[in-house]
Amino acid sequence: MRYLILSDIHSNKPALDAVLEDAAGHFDQIICCGDLVGYGADPNPVVDWARSNVQAVVRGNHDKACAGLDDLEWFNPVARRSAAWTMEHLTPGNAAYLRELPQGPIPVNGYQILHGSPTDEDEYLVAAQEVARIRFYLNTKLSFFGHTHVQGGFLLVPSGVLRIPKTPPQQTQQVLEFENDVSYLINPGSVGQPRDGDSRAAYVIYNSSDNWLTYHRVVYDIARAQARIKEEHLPQMLADRLGTGA
Ligand code: ZN
Repeated sequence: MRYLILSDIHSNKPALDAVLEDAAGHFDQIICCGDLVGYGADPNPVVDWARSNVQAVVRGNHDKACAGLDDLEWFNPVARRSAAWTMEHLTPGNAAYLRELPQGPIPVNGYQILHGSPTDEDEYLVAAQEVARIRFYLNTKLSFFGHTHVQGGFLLVPSGVLRIPKTPPQQTQQVLEFENDVSYLINPGSVGQPRDGDSRAAYVIYNSSDNWLTYHRVVYDIARAQARIKEEHLPQMLADRLGTGA
């Protein structure tokens, strides 16, 4: 089975479209590690798409906030403004879908998906030491997570935790072959708001039959996503950020 693994789409339809076009023909099922909405200007088209195309998805912190399940006080002013705007604009059906998304980790055919960390969906796993603290809560050899918007993730070897670097800027993909005695905590990167210094949309294709995955980066129509943010009078910073990928 081949899985298209996505995370942190964040209402960015142009980025999602570019990923789906780039990955077309290379996957059987779509899996998402959360944050369908927040920040971007197209929450309904993204949630409509997810409802009919994604086989498994966990909720992200933005999905939770935009569904009215969290206190917006925790968010910075820009995130709060975009969450309030998203709540106003979601159709009742899409708001109900977000409200019912499961909290991770959830199992998917031998691996698991989660948003932040296995013990706290709002926790950012950025450094290897942070992953070392939670590694024993990961009960499958392979887990996918999101939330940091940084492509790569971690190798969990008996002696410690090693960081997996993101795809280099001059490449559009890199392969990771699985080894015995290693567990993997994989971040596919963010589709709709990369923050790892690379503005290209990020995703992973996982091939469970042949035991490897590939990280991908794809150029998308950033100007279009920025124009949509401007049209909806969302904070300018959200548009600027897409241009730098930071
Ligand atoms: Zn996110």
